Amino acid sequence: MNLTFRNSNWTSLARACALFFLALLLLGVSLSTQSPNPDLLLLNAHVVTMNDKQPSAEAIAVQGERIIWVGTSGEAKRLYSKAARTIDLHGATVLPGIIDAHTHLINLGESLVRLNLKDIPSENEIVERVKQRAASAAPGDWILGWGWDEGKWASNYPSNQALSDATPRNPVFLVGLHTFAAWANQRALKLAGIHKDTKDPENGKILRDEKTGEPTGILLNRAQDLVSKHIPPMTLVQAKRAMQLAARECVRNGLTSVHEAKVTPLMVEAFHELVREGRMPLRVYGMLDGADKNLVEEWLKRGPEIDPHHQLTIRSFKLFADGALGSRGAALLAPYTDAPQTKGVMTTPESEVYSLTRRSLQAGFQVCTHAIGDAANRSVLDAYAQAEKEMPTSRDPRLRVEHAQVLASEDIPRFAKLGVIASMQPTHCTSDMAWAEKRLGPVRVKDAYAWRSVKDSGSHLSLSSDFPGETLNPFYGIYAAITRQDPQGNPPGGWYPEQKLTLEEALRGYTVEAAYAEFQESEKGSIEKGKLVDLTIISKDITKIPPSAILSIRALKTFVGGKIVYDAETDH
Ligand SMILES: [Zn+2]
Repeated sequence: MNLTFRNSNWTSLARACALFFLALLLLGVSLSTQSPNPDLLLLNAHVVTMNDKQPSAEAIAVQGERIIWVGTSGEAKRLYSKAARTIDLHGATVLPGIIDAHTHLINLGESLVRLNLKDIPSENEIVERVKQRAASAAPGDWILGWGWDEGKWASNYPSNQALSDATPRNPVFLVGLHTFAAWANQRALKLAGIHKDTKDPENGKILRDEKTGEPTGILLNRAQDLVSKHIPPMTLVQAKRAMQLAARECVRNGLTSVHEAKVTPLMVEAFHELVREGRMPLRVYGMLDGADKNLVEEWLKRGPEIDPHHQLTIRSFKLFADGALGSRGAALLAPYTDAPQTKGVMTTPESEVYSLTRRSLQAGFQVCTHAIGDAANRSVLDAYAQAEKEMPTSRDPRLRVEHAQVLASEDIPRFAKLGVIASMQPTHCTSDMAWAEKRLGPVRVKDAYAWRSVKDSGSHLSLSSDFPGETLNPFYGIYAAITRQDPQGNPPGGWYPEQKLTLEEALRGYTVEAAYAEFQESEKGSIEKGKLVDLTIISKDITKIPPSAILSIRALKTFVGGKIVYDAETDH
């Protein structure tokens, strides 16, 4: 009896306590879900969430760097009337922050640091620009530029006279728009040891004055190397400036994260300093230069650097299995259709891809290998397969093939089977389509730039630009992915249109899938509660306009981690 009495007493006490704590818990839950005072409320938007459970919305509530709520504007006003700041987006479209999964920030930055001579019509004006730049340069500093139109000027190239007179103390080297020619001043020619009696190098030409035979300063093709090899490598200060300028361009174009596809020791240092100084508005996922043996050994020993703040993560190596299709450097299984004597060249043997992959998986790194030709792709898949088989403990390797441009049909399903990510560039297709079939012939070309086949085989497919070789504007990539046409709309109906992606698939490639390719799908890539506030707010409703209008979409505002890093109203 007593025991029963005591027991029931304890039971009711326990029950009361449990109820009390349950009530507290519910109160806590309701407080945390309602969060009466978000830092920021975005209202009256067309939110394309890329979250299958809630594909569209109108409002987003933000606290710190995280999204705390997504819903309708009506609900938002009711729940969050006391938000610290409210932005009415007046119907603008909001996308998850766009991630470019294959970029070269450093090269973009370099082109921004150099004098931009594009569209400058006259020699005098170019000389004037060089003079201005020289005024703030120390004696001996190189003055570098690019973009004068060697095609247009070919019938009447300038001489180095005016350039030399304007800047006798500084070597000047100005590369043409298409990189077929460069224009150097006397100081640069002298440093390179180019004079009257210098012979033309193989595949290059030193233009000379008809009467005197002296070099004019115009160097064609490989003759440019005679000077360019004397240009000193970037300093840390220059690399930081270049990357900062490039990052600004990225956020202006609506990008919130990039995967930098070859990171050198200098770049690692520059990225670290920029992040520490709060001067990197963009999130960076770095692929270390796998050809630099010292760098590889150092990082394999040290292990990956995974940033808890998601600003700079370094956990992958970049390898090159072959070259490019245009220059016939891509390694093919059978000879080139338009050059039957060659099959291209493998630049890293399969055994090396395998051994680095195996060691990387062991040390917690991902491997991203450039492979363009079908032979290179097969070799990389074989190397990955063997390394994965021998490393069963590395459960989530997410190995990547960069470009995966020309594939043998039977290799396409292997991506999904091995869990290998295809990291592809829609504008490569539309830039190459004019000549790709000449290189490959009518059969192989069907499995080139084959996004649809790759996607349908069940593989992960992340999309990217490979800037600055292609434009960094992601809307050109999305347009190319869904049309397979150039910006003028050619060819009608699209080039091998059966390989087109849908808009939804293209957007996934630049958001959810790109986040997956850097192990960040739980942090970004979609607009949902708990994720980072990385958003791209754009000028048109991408889901309603014809494809040609996608080309004129501009970023209005870019958010990274809840901060506005670009605002079209105030930044120019
Ligand atoms: Zn690249």
